[in-house]
Amino acid sequence: MSEPSGRMPLFDGHNDTLLSLEATGRSFWERGDQGHIDLPRAREGGLAGGFFAVFVRDPGMELEAPPEPADAKLDTAGEEAPEGEGQTAAPDPASISDRYRDPANMPPPMSLEYAQRHAMATVASLFRLEAASGGRARIVRSAAELRRCIDDGVFAMELHFEGAEPIDPEFDALEVFHQAGLRSLGLTWSRPNRFAHGAPFAFPSSPDVGPGLTEAGKALVRECNRLRIMLDLSHLNEQGFWDVAALTDAPLVATHSNAHALVPSARNLTDKQLDAIRDSDGMVGVNFHVGFLRPDGARDADTPLDVIADHVDYLVERLGPDRVGFGSDFDGATMPAALGDAAGLPHLLDTLRGRGYDDATLGRIACDNWLRVLEQTWGA
Ligand SMILES: [Zn+2]
Repeated sequence: MSEPSGRMPLFDGHNDTLLSLEATGRSFWERGDQGHIDLPRAREGGLAGGFFAVFVRDPGMELEAPPEPADAKLDTAGEEAPEGEGQTAAPDPASISDRYRDPANMPPPMSLEYAQRHAMATVASLFRLEAASGGRARIVRSAAELRRCIDDGVFAMELHFEGAEPIDPEFDALEVFHQAGLRSLGLTWSRPNRFAHGAPFAFPSSPDVGPGLTEAGKALVRECNRLRIMLDLSHLNEQGFWDVAALTDAPLVATHSNAHALVPSARNLTDKQLDAIRDSDGMVGVNFHVGFLRPDGARDADTPLDVIADHVDYLVERLGPDRVGFGSDFDGATMPAALGDAAGLPHLLDTLRGRGYDDATLGRIACDNWLRVLEQTWGA
């Protein structure tokens, strides 16, 4: 198998596709118009693979049963809907995020048993996806495997936890999930847990909200270093970021965040944080969610691709071209209409070519920088 139609391969730092598949019941193998990633659209756009997030919804937000595909509208459910309607059919993280704006009003921590049961189901869905792929998609556990998949045109899926709620303080689950393929872990989503405090979905706001890591959180950083699981700093609050930076022996990575200097969302990274990422030889995956891209923070899909390019320019200027990649947030956020979904990625690359990026530099941003950082973190 070879890359379709000479597209530049692009490896992506974040998607919520497992959630989208579960919520809608749509197929990953047939081209559809729900969500943002299925295999045909990925191939059309040159998407070679990415981080597949396992995210556990708070109790009361989980799905009772997958809705009929015809009824599910992941892209629109809840986004502009009045309070209370958003979670009926297919709650996507973009609408869920409305509930996590106020750090003083977060839901109570979920039980470990609940978090593990739901994480287990999502991890199992990734294994089933791989099994059903007939060799077209693979879970990658090393940089060499990732490179081979990209070279062979096999869709590469990296198992990522977005929030450490399923991890027990004794780290038994971390051992087991690592053996199963877990290769990156966000200490938090935008809510507190036993390890850390998240950055709320507040705008305008500094990410410096709440305390740093707990003692268990610091122990988790050391365990992830030992197992060479990549720590993802997106969604973590600023004090937690600095606690990780002081402890970890790996490059600092934020898989799907943007520049706070351009958009003052608590989910974006300050210049000081970006400088620490640069100094650690880590990287940032640029997030395509319009609310983190637009200077006004509006969740308005009528957003030109130039705003993504603005963040790429800023981050390249601050971090250097070897420390910037993409972290789309496909299937979990509101995309600029001009991008649409994974099939639209060549439009973004064209926009960046228009800003003067040559194909060598674009190839690093689209793929090679992720390979470099993952190899450095996971080992060769
Ligand atoms: Zn996220």
